[in-house]
Amino acid sequence: MPPSKGYAALAATSPLAPYGFTRREPGATEIAVEILYCGVCHSDLHMARNEWGQSIYPLVPGHEIVGRVVAVGSSSKKFKLGELAAIGVIVDSCRHCAPCNRGEEHFCDEGPTLTYAAKDRVDGSITMGGYSNNYVVDERFAHTVPANLDLAAVAPLLCAGITTYSPLRHWNVGPGKKVGIIGLGGLGHMGLKFAHAFGAHVVQFTTSLRKKEDALRLGANEVVLSTDPAAMKPHTKSFDFILDTASAPHSLDPYLTLLKQDGTMTLVGLPEKPPAVSVFSLIARRASVAGSMIGGMPETQEMLDYCGQHNITADVEVIPIQKVNEAFERMLKQDVKYRFVIDMSSLK
Ligand SMILES: [Zn+2]
Ligand SMILES: [Zn+2]
Repeated sequence: MPPSKGYAALAATSPLAPYGFTRREPGATEIAVEILYCGVCHSDLHMARNEWGQSIYPLVPGHEIVGRVVAVGSSSKKFKLGELAAIGVIVDSCRHCAPCNRGEEHFCDEGPTLTYAAKDRVDGSITMGGYSNNYVVDERFAHTVPANLDLAAVAPLLCAGITTYSPLRHWNVGPGKKVGIIGLGGLGHMGLKFAHAFGAHVVQFTTSLRKKEDALRLGANEVVLSTDPAAMKPHTKSFDFILDTASAPHSLDPYLTLLKQDGTMTLVGLPEKPPAVSVFSLIARRASVAGSMIGGMPETQEMLDYCGQHNITADVEVIPIQKVNEAFERMLKQDVKYRFVIDMSSLK
């Protein structure tokens, strides 16, 4: 492999800076990918700053990767040289437990290997993410990319896309269903696009009506100001499903009262503190509060293929890698519509 270069945090308190490292030659079933674009996920910021207490330094973030195959292992069958490939949040798993055998590698009994800041199952090194020029991965954990889509806008599908696609599919969102989306950021705007594409009646909840026009453009049938009880009340007991993508602390109760009997509210955002839930709002309608996390490899491919067929991508702001620290600060202020994506040709 040619030398790898990227941007790394050397400590929780240091900004990302240029960093050189090496990756192994691809093994028999592995491919090497030259990275073209990498999305900037909120997790990247949490991990760069060790806000979840599990970071390993030097830390090269990035798990929304789109690139071109530049080397193929001797028994690899899925990709040919020069084809597009995408890599998401996980790059390996035990490959033999029940969830892995079902294609739910993200629920691997032994724990999946994360794309960065995790121990590599093959060579024991620490995985380095997609804020870099290349990646080496087993073909099982890489996906083919529909040729008709804008590649920069495909990158966020690998985390924000599958994180919202999977629960909407699992809870059967479709025609005849009323669905709420909480939060209109990287995750929320993808949830909105998918729920709309699946044929549901979609309500975007927002804490600021500034985003109303955008939400309507992205597929919302209605936009409701969640801080206004008078706006929320007419929706009482009317929702089949609510997808909560918000990462700012908030109470679940105002939304639980909007669920129909046996409705479900699923959390995919990661607030720093546990959310408040009143048991009363659950028992009054046998409501469920659930969680969901990315998706398995077959479902991730299904999502990408669906996006190709329906022309769905993320709304992105493409940046050179030199602006990634600035992008982190702007992301904290929700000053992005709706995902930063690094153009890796800027990495010299
Ligand atoms: Zn992510
Ligand atoms: Zn497993």
